[in-house]
Amino acid sequence: MDTEVDPALTRLKGVGAQLAEKLERLHLRQIPDLLFHLPLRYEDRTRIHPLGQLRLGQHALIRGRVVNTSVQYGRRRSLLVRVRDDSGEVGLRFYYFSAAQQRQLQPGTAIQAFGEARRGATGLEFYHPEYSAADDDGALPAPSGTLTPVYPTTEGLTQKRLRQLMEQALAWMRTSDELPDLLPASLREQWQLPALPTALDFIHNPPPATDLETLISGDHPCVARLAVEELLAQHLGLRQLRHQARAEAAPPLHSQGGTLQQQLRASLPFALTAAQDRVLEEIEADLARPVPMLRLVQGDVGAGKTLVAVLAMLRAVDAGWQSVFMAPTEILAEQHARNLTAWLQSLGIEVVLLLGRQTRRQRTEALARIAAGAACVVGTHALFQEEVRYQRLGLVVVDEQHRFGVDQRLLLREKGRQQGLVPHQLIMTATPIPRTLAMSMYADLDFSVIDELPPGRTPVVTTVMNDAQRERVIQRVRDACTDRRQVYWVCTLIEDSDELQAQAAEELYTQLTEALQPFRVALVHGRMKNSEKSAVMSAFKAGETQVLVATTVIEVGVDVPNASVMIIENAERLGLSQLHQLRGRVGRGAADSYCVLLYRPPLSQGGKARLNTMRSTSDGFQIAEQDLLLRGPGEVLGTRQTGEAGFRIANLQRDQHWLPAVKQLSETLEREYPDMATALLARWHPEGLNYGKV
Ligand code: ADP
Ligand code: MG
Repeated sequence: MDTEVDPALTRLKGVGAQLAEKLERLHLRQIPDLLFHLPLRYEDRTRIHPLGQLRLGQHALIRGRVVNTSVQYGRRRSLLVRVRDDSGEVGLRFYYFSAAQQRQLQPGTAIQAFGEARRGATGLEFYHPEYSAADDDGALPAPSGTLTPVYPTTEGLTQKRLRQLMEQALAWMRTSDELPDLLPASLREQWQLPALPTALDFIHNPPPATDLETLISGDHPCVARLAVEELLAQHLGLRQLRHQARAEAAPPLHSQGGTLQQQLRASLPFALTAAQDRVLEEIEADLARPVPMLRLVQGDVGAGKTLVAVLAMLRAVDAGWQSVFMAPTEILAEQHARNLTAWLQSLGIEVVLLLGRQTRRQRTEALARIAAGAACVVGTHALFQEEVRYQRLGLVVVDEQHRFGVDQRLLLREKGRQQGLVPHQLIMTATPIPRTLAMSMYADLDFSVIDELPPGRTPVVTTVMNDAQRERVIQRVRDACTDRRQVYWVCTLIEDSDELQAQAAEELYTQLTEALQPFRVALVHGRMKNSEKSAVMSAFKAGETQVLVATTVIEVGVDVPNASVMIIENAERLGLSQLHQLRGRVGRGAADSYCVLLYRPPLSQGGKARLNTMRSTSDGFQIAEQDLLLRGPGEVLGTRQTGEAGFRIANLQRDQHWLPAVKQLSETLEREYPDMATALLARWHPEGLNYGKV
């Protein structure tokens, strides 16, 4: 790259290899990165605060003369400097100090300091304030003309240094054309967003009268300007992905009469709901086209997504193509394989199960059948491993999408690429995603919603109980078992450690086995061998065991209609979406169903709010909206571990109301200012959209 246009941070004065490495730790590589590194808070050093008016906890710039300086011998040795102005007095205390400092701070010396007024042994004191003592001609630095930003930083990088760098970066921005405004003025005007340099100048050097609250919360138009730009870049990236996907060719899956579907429908003891029928039609219209389908089907737990997917798979089989069904966990993959086999065997359709931890022999056999063209393949991530070869892959179904990232969607597509054709993709999620959020996060997909539950479902009666009432809960479980019903007892921990979860589940298992005699209790957790897990699940499904103690491995998708009671431990610690998923495991049969949310006091505000929401509604969309409000989009989308869905400035929760604007902006930009769209994408995602984080 030409050095003239190289915006690397090393171009700033004083940035050598060492400093560059520290900046790298903050993910700051280029000058624009630094400019988009926003302050955590601000300090007001614009005016001198009279000492007599200082209040506890106040951050203030003060000025006065040293009255006396003395070494104090309390619990720790310290230097105490008493300072006075016309209005009062304050102490400056230093635990680390040099002899030179002590000599410099002689009585009568003029001093200016900035710090927080705290309660000290002598009244209000500043601990280790930043200060300057008057030089020989008695001059102190002038108060700052703007508020002083405090940035997120890293070890060995001082605020002072960061501020100096920021000044240089801002100067670079003002004098070079290298950070152009990528929002055309007309669009900025339409949405009342300030120009980019204006926004950055303001954020890094706000004038004294600024409403800091809005600036820090991000509601200020200058921050919004940046957040919108970032959201826009992400949206553009997803749309680009969409265009690329639509530019591919897929096999049109024409129905050869649809007899397979008819046969399956005829064999079911129920009819499809109107919503299932509608969504299936939407899917079939896509499948008939020579471009790959990329459709997200949302449907609350129990809405019957699996059946819709299987009918779509039959369409592929009918047209002479293979289809795969990918689940997020092995337990689920096995369950789907059982269901599919039960539904499809009588139609003479082959179903193959492929898991990561099968025996060598099972695996070799599965791989051979897949390569030979087995019609339906069910499995986990193992489905797109290197050695898997499909003969003619026409459709990929991904269940419970929020566990997969965009990158995995792409991988799957590549896996199925053959002779220039890529498979159709159907993605299903039980996490109802609020509309605005879906628009932003899945802009590369089309949507269908199964917004109706099959008839005859009884709502789950939910109660919230203190852990101290455990005995009563056990009695209820006993009663349910006596009524020949089955029970899930879910053991959760806040730590994401398999090991600890398993341990806690084992303890609970021992305890309940004892307490519930003669009923049979079983245990399933993530640490168990695959074959063990599946044996336990089958036995439970067959009614051989009455109580299943489980970790959250059963969170998604497990379907045992006779299980009608669900106990959830430490419910106050789980997010709403997760609780909703868990509760969705019951209420699938005709029996009255119960869910007990056990909590350990004291309950936090958030915990109380979540439990109340669970008690008062079973509507997945309402719950998702609440979750978004209470915990943010990372939870809703299942991306908690990767942070706020990977944004630097934007915050989906805070900036939600901008999403419709972002959508419009991205369409306009794409249509009328394609160069700016490209540049925007390059600015925020120089290495391509970070798919894993979406
Ligand atoms: P989810 O949408 O949560 O994946 P499932 O596909 O597991 O839901 O379906 C839940 C249960 O409802 C299954 O036992 C399934 O066979 C049954 N089911 C699906 N569609 C219908 C329907 N139209 N009427 C009655 N039961 C249905
Ligand atoms: Mg499901």
